[in-house]
Amino acid sequence: MTDQVRFEHQCPQCGAPVILDETDRLFACPFCRVRLFIHYRRAPRCTLAVGAEPAGGDLVHVPYWRFRGMGFAVGLDSVHWRVLDQSVRAVERPLFPANLGLRPQAMTLRALQPETPGAFHGADLKRKDFVAELARSFEQHLSDEATRPFHQAFVGETVQLIYAPFWVERHRVRDAVTGAVLAGSPEPGWQVEAETAASAAGGSPVFMATLCPHCGWDLEGEKDALVLLCRNCDRAWQAGSGGLRQLPLTALQPESDADLWLPFWSIEAGATDLDLASYGDFIRLTNQTRVPTPDRENQPFRFLVPACKVNPQRFLHLGAWMTLEQPRPQPLEKLPRTLPHPVNLAPVEGFQSVLAVLAQLTVAKKKLLPRLVRAHLAFKSYQLVFVPFRGQGLEWVQPELGFSLPANALHWGRRL
Ligand SMILES: [Zn+2]
Ligand SMILES: [Zn+2]
Repeated sequence: MTDQVRFEHQCPQCGAPVILDETDRLFACPFCRVRLFIHYRRAPRCTLAVGAEPAGGDLVHVPYWRFRGMGFAVGLDSVHWRVLDQSVRAVERPLFPANLGLRPQAMTLRALQPETPGAFHGADLKRKDFVAELARSFEQHLSDEATRPFHQAFVGETVQLIYAPFWVERHRVRDAVTGAVLAGSPEPGWQVEAETAASAAGGSPVFMATLCPHCGWDLEGEKDALVLLCRNCDRAWQAGSGGLRQLPLTALQPESDADLWLPFWSIEAGATDLDLASYGDFIRLTNQTRVPTPDRENQPFRFLVPACKVNPQRFLHLGAWMTLEQPRPQPLEKLPRTLPHPVNLAPVEGFQSVLAVLAQLTVAKKKLLPRLVRAHLAFKSYQLVFVPFRGQGLEWVQPELGFSLPANALHWGRRL
């Protein structure tokens, strides 16, 4: 994975320019010291800086969708995964390049400001159609190695609408970043149906204070955290469009003294066309060899998937392992002394992965995966669970559940 994309924002309090990584959510202004949380109501709009001098043409910004995250595909006999970073032109103007190539990784993207000069092409391609296109290209990539996937999921993603600038002159179009002349020329009477930067920028991010809504204390969290913690009143807050919402805190072995607390989403998913209400149902559906004890048989079934970004293979394994174990978390009265690993994957993202996790867990895939083809899962509820790990040499070890992961496994996801 390449380096983080950087965004330039303006501090809403003092107006100073602040450079943030694309996954940053907590923001401390180095000038006025205000601490704020950023919430994007929709895919952030950003621009690439104009580098080429004008030569009498019009400055036109052409939109491209960009996706960066994990892709999972479930076929009739296996589950596939891939890290994706792709961009697609969002207007039907074949004159402009079909995608942005490596530019989003190589350049600083600026959050679109209303005063940005030039005309802005509205995006014809809707976000959901872009995701459908991603699915098609993922499927093509798999066609040699897998049967046609019946289910695909894109998880942990960053989706952006990036406006790339072009100089549209009388007989030619130039890339306004590099100055290169594009092959082809604007057809006569070529017009850009454009909107202004101000309308394109509508829905710019919301900045929220990071004070505990319960006690007023400064909330704690790393810069990519979606859940902020209050050390004063031991509460967790999930930031969203409606402000900060309290999350009940639970943990496995809440009394233990761990070196690492890894967050998981415990997800209740309602299934139609599948018996998946209890742990017993789950054991039979996925053909596990273990036999549930009578008290476990009727325990309501929940998916447990990482609430943080890790590489897709690890994500699937962690999710499969925890879901298979179905540990019963207990309320966490007091936050652990060690700051938990940041929650940087939203619960709805976790939910998107559950069918892939279920398929991954299924024993005798060829026989049983066809049952999942018509499965429909509904996102019903979620809970945050912290799982304690001990550092041992180059590994994180979870002794109760008999699982370990390499110490460097968690670095990768902080940059996705
Ligand atoms: Zn400031
Ligand atoms: Zn508090």
